[in-house]
Amino acid sequence: MSAPPDDADARRAVPPVVCYPPETLPAPDLDLYRTARVAARKLGEVVVPPRDGRCFRVPAGGFFRITSVEGPQVGDLNLWAAADLGERFFSGKTRALHGTHVSVGDRLWSCLPHLRPMATIVEDTLDWYGFDEYGGGVHDVIGTRCDPYTHRLLSGGTYHHCCHSNLARALAGETGMPVTEAEHCIHDVLNVFMCTGFTRETGQYFMKASPVRPGDFIEFFAEIDLLGALSACPGGDCGATHSSDAAACHPLLVEVFEAPAAMLGGWAPPSRNLYDRSHGAG
Ligand SMILES: [Zn+2]
Repeated sequence: MSAPPDDADARRAVPPVVCYPPETLPAPDLDLYRTARVAARKLGEVVVPPRDGRCFRVPAGGFFRITSVEGPQVGDLNLWAAADLGERFFSGKTRALHGTHVSVGDRLWSCLPHLRPMATIVEDTLDWYGFDEYGGGVHDVIGTRCDPYTHRLLSGGTYHHCCHSNLARALAGETGMPVTEAEHCIHDVLNVFMCTGFTRETGQYFMKASPVRPGDFIEFFAEIDLLGALSACPGGDCGATHSSDAAACHPLLVEVFEAPAAMLGGWAPPSRNLYDRSHGAG
C-alpha cells in the first residue's frame, strides 16, 4: 500500500458535493397523478411465476402496480419505450439523479440520447423502511440483475433461470425475436422490493432478506407508452442466495390501469432530451 501523504487527513476531510443536484428538474405533479388514479380502470393483470419472467404493456398516462403475493419476493424490472426498444431504462443515470434506492416522487429515466422520464413512482408501501443500520435500503438501482454468465464465472455451473434469462425469454416471447437477439435488449434493472447496500469497510454490494410481505406494492405512472418485463428472481427474498433453485420463490402480480384522459388535465408525455447531438463535431 502507498504511504499516505502528510496532509492525508486534510484531504479526506474535504466535504462532498452532490454530483447532480436534482432541484432544477421539473417536479412531477403527484397530486394530478393521484387524482387521475382514483378514476382509473383496470386494463389487465399478469402473474409472473417464480423463477420466470413476463412482459406487460402500459399506455402513456396509465399506471402499473407490482404487488407481492403469497410470500416475500424480489423482482427485476426492465422498461422500454413501446415504439422503440432502443429507448430503455437507464439505471445508472437514475441512480446519479435520485440516489441508490428510489421511492415516491422519483422517476425512472431512459438512456441517452433520449434521457426523459419513462415512469414516476406514485406509491410505495415500503417507503417507511428508509436506510437500516447496515446502510441497506429497498428498491435499488445499483444492482445489475443475476445472470448466467457471472454465475458461470463464479461457480462454473449452468443455470437457466437467472433474471437476465427470465427477462430475455419474456421479451422473446412478447416480440417474436430469437432469445439470443432479445438478450441484447435486456439492461440493468430496478430491483423491486430488494434490500441492498454497500458494506461499510469494503464497499461490496450486499443483499439481505427483503422486508416485503404479501400485499406490499410499488406503483408507477407511465410517462410514455411502455413495454415492461419483470422477473421473479430465483433468489426469492434474496436473504441468502440467488442463481439457483435453492431459495423459496413466489409469484409477483403486475396490474395495469388506465385513467380517463380528461383527468390528466394539461399533462402530456415528456419530449426526448433537447440536446442537439452535434457533440462539438462541427
Ligand atoms: Zn435475479
